[in-house]
Amino acid sequence: MAEEHTALTVALAQLKLAAQKLELNSGIHKMLSQPKRSISVSIDIRLDNGAIGVYNGIRVQHWDVRGPFKGGIRYYPNITQDEVTALSMLMTWKCAIADIPYGGAKGGVCVDSKKLSKHELERLTRRYVSLIVEYLGPHRDIPAPDMYTDAQTMAWIMDTYSQLKGYMVPECVTGKPVEVGGSEGRTEATGRGVIHCVKEAAQNKNLKLKNATVAIQGFGNVGYHAAVAANEIGCKVVAVSDSTGAICNPNGLNPVAVLAHKEKTGTVQNFKGCINITNEDLLETECDILIPAAMENQITCKNADKIRAKLVAEAANGPTTPEADKCLHEKGIVLIPDILANCGGVTVSYFEWVQNLTREHWTLQEVNEKLETKMTKAFDDVYALSQKEKSDMRTAALMMGVGRVANAIKVLGLWP
Ligand code: NAD
Repeated sequence: MAEEHTALTVALAQLKLAAQKLELNSGIHKMLSQPKRSISVSIDIRLDNGAIGVYNGIRVQHWDVRGPFKGGIRYYPNITQDEVTALSMLMTWKCAIADIPYGGAKGGVCVDSKKLSKHELERLTRRYVSLIVEYLGPHRDIPAPDMYTDAQTMAWIMDTYSQLKGYMVPECVTGKPVEVGGSEGRTEATGRGVIHCVKEAAQNKNLKLKNATVAIQGFGNVGYHAAVAANEIGCKVVAVSDSTGAICNPNGLNPVAVLAHKEKTGTVQNFKGCINITNEDLLETECDILIPAAMENQITCKNADKIRAKLVAEAANGPTTPEADKCLHEKGIVLIPDILANCGGVTVSYFEWVQNLTREHWTLQEVNEKLETKMTKAFDDVYALSQKEKSDMRTAALMMGVGRVANAIKVLGLWP
């Protein structure tokens, strides 16, 4: 495959690989190649200056045989239906790997959220929800945060859905603020989950974690919490980045202080004691563990042979191209694939939904313990399959995710 692929061509190639390995029925393979439902809406809002803003909103529902659709909503310029479809597919496999009773979905609004005021973002979110409300719901499709959306966005989604239904429905969305039914530990869950996988992988690779060096691309929700969790287990975070650039300090940096600096100045760059480097440099930094936690297609055939980490944990969705994947594998670098590494977010989203449905509120300790149990089990299952199949972890994870969904289709049969 050439490097000029889209997220969708990669997702379809991954499905094909899993289908071949599993000797999947060709009809089921075909079913899983298409989303069950794909929605595109025009979101028209009044901007603060009185003008009308028009934005494309997307929601793709891939498959729901194992439970209601589940997946984040991202606000990002130039987002396409194909990209959202690919991400919805990854969600289906991810929920199956985490062994939680959900199918996969993803949403997106084509917008540069940094250019809108908070009021404009609220109107955009509410209007988007109103346009797709009949396809959402706690037993239909449950959104969550993703790039450039957060707990506040989820609160607006919950309120809009509830206002339209006429009663409060906290279980219609996850990643909400704790004050309105959000779970303890949801914000940090994806980052923490990545580090649980790193711990397991390090054990298998005999990599000592005390003072192991970590470089993290992307210092948003996932990247920041992965940095904090890495520090907690004794690793040394030596480089981090955001969309404006990267910083590096071989002696280690304090993520909490970097976040305070970023909140004050709008960038991680120019942080005291660090040197400014580029995002490209960050990926090639000398480190034990590399955590891409920003965008798709960051590790490509152009830089894969320059990656010096021993372990790559894909916190972001789709950060490694298939060619780069092959190159890392040949170099003996262990890669924990996105559908396994970042499934902590959807796992605690599931905990939040269960708490909402049962009107319970679990402590942070309970949530973190349950998360660790789930992540460790998911990692160990995929690792065992990779050993059995003599394959890399991505192939094993895909086989596990696709296999579980295909089995559900077989058991349910086709109606009518
Ligand atoms: P976020 O918006 O909180 O943070 C994204 C970070 O990436 C920001 O620091 C931003 O500055 C940086 N960034 C953007 N473009 C960049 C570029 N070109 N180079 C370097 N950095 C860049 O988003 P997030 O929620 O942390 O999500 C990050 C990734 O993790 C995404 O791929 C998302 O799909 C994935 N993910 C998120 C969750 C979750 O629970 N939030 C769950 C699973 C997967």
